Amino acid sequence: TTADAGRATGSTGQAAASLTARWAAENPRSRALAERARKVLPGGVTHDVRRDEPFPLAVTQAKGSRKQDLDGHELVCFVMGHGALLLGHSDPAVVEAVRRQAERAFHPGACHELEVEWAEAVVDLVPSAEIVRFTSSGTEASLLGLRLARAATGRERIVKLEGHFHGWHDQVSFGADAPYDKPDTAGVPRALMDAGSVAVLAPEIAGLRAALETGEVAAVILEPSGASWGTVPLPEGFLGELRTLTAATGSLLIFDEVITGFRWSPGGVQGRVGVTPDLTILGKILAGGMPGGAVAGRADVIGLIGLEEGDARRVPHHGTHNAHPLSAAAGLATLAAVRTGEPHQHADRLAAELRVQLDSAFERAGIAGRAYGECSTFHLLFNHSGSLESLDTATVKSGGMSRQLAAELHHGMLLGGVQLFHGSGFLSSAHTEADVEKTAEAFATTLSELSPDLLS
Ligand code: PLP
Repeated sequence: TTADAGRATGSTGQAAASLTARWAAENPRSRALAERARKVLPGGVTHDVRRDEPFPLAVTQAKGSRKQDLDGHELVCFVMGHGALLLGHSDPAVVEAVRRQAERAFHPGACHELEVEWAEAVVDLVPSAEIVRFTSSGTEASLLGLRLARAATGRERIVKLEGHFHGWHDQVSFGADAPYDKPDTAGVPRALMDAGSVAVLAPEIAGLRAALETGEVAAVILEPSGASWGTVPLPEGFLGELRTLTAATGSLLIFDEVITGFRWSPGGVQGRVGVTPDLTILGKILAGGMPGGAVAGRADVIGLIGLEEGDARRVPHHGTHNAHPLSAAAGLATLAAVRTGEPHQHADRLAAELRVQLDSAFERAGIAGRAYGECSTFHLLFNHSGSLESLDTATVKSGGMSRQLAAELHHGMLLGGVQLFHGSGFLSSAHTEADVEKTAEAFATTLSELSPDLLS
């Protein structure tokens, strides 16, 4: 049975039900839904990041920093719509804006005021944004950004960095996971890499210089926080050096700010560190929890979309739901709060406090590990206390955890009323001191209940 399979030896030396087995026993409704889901949804989920054994958590409602699962437990949420919610779940101003627009028109099939206002807000907040093209998702924005870069430079090769994620389309389905010289998934033509259209490089200036000096690179795309929203930070000064290098070699610099945009600061990473890319890929907070994405940046590059038919440099772009009015409404209401910088001040301060408390829980438990992260985020790293630089990207991305340890942590935290996002988390302006306290407590309890076999 699941319970037997999940048995681990606790610190008392007696056989104790694993945290995973205990959580499973307390969540029969999530289990039942997963059984139905597996019959009609591959893997029983609609996003691979939600796959979980023995079954994933299902949620009925969410408000502010909390959510309620199908079995009635209240959870402090650190998933925050995969990072899309800076104001917490169902922020009243966002809900009202969406409701108002839903009554006016879902999809007028015509130009509308909100799309112009939305683009104006982006141009106002994001330093690189001269003009904007909206898409329905971050993946589509990354696809469009790379196509525009190729069209603008007349070059074919895209350089991306080891471990960095830019959505699930073919050209970026290399190098997000080790080994970096193979596609991350079946179904992607190897030829994209073999013929040199896509190159995956380490975040080291010397190697990048050699690649860029060939004069064949259309663009370098990267997460300017470092891979997985700062899970693997970039070397000090890297962004500035890369900016100089791309400008000198005629390649475009593309910041993928799908997560960091409007979160690292009202102007994203670029607003915080003062390095301005040619193009910026946006999503998540941009659309306030509704579906949406955008390419923002240089008018001469994005303007290729607007060229006259028949112009060989034109990049036509379609998309039924581009700048969907409901997404625009949610996005505008969210960006109005972003502009004040207040959500960031609050969420960043609480995240810093939480990182300190998580660190101290490791120390009190006598378990090697640390909490780190930037702005309103945190990441847990087990089995290491020293600097991240000595570790390889794959180890850091795994949080130093085996699959079993990751599962035990996840389910232990859920038993304590806290939902992490794969050993990491996003805070919002709706999180409170009480959420931080509850999380620190759940973490200390989980650490005390982990089987020592899982820790090195
Ligand atoms: N780029 C980054 C850095 C992301 O984290 C994500 C999604 O998590 C994407 C692109 C893809 O965005 P979407 O899921 O909206 O397609």
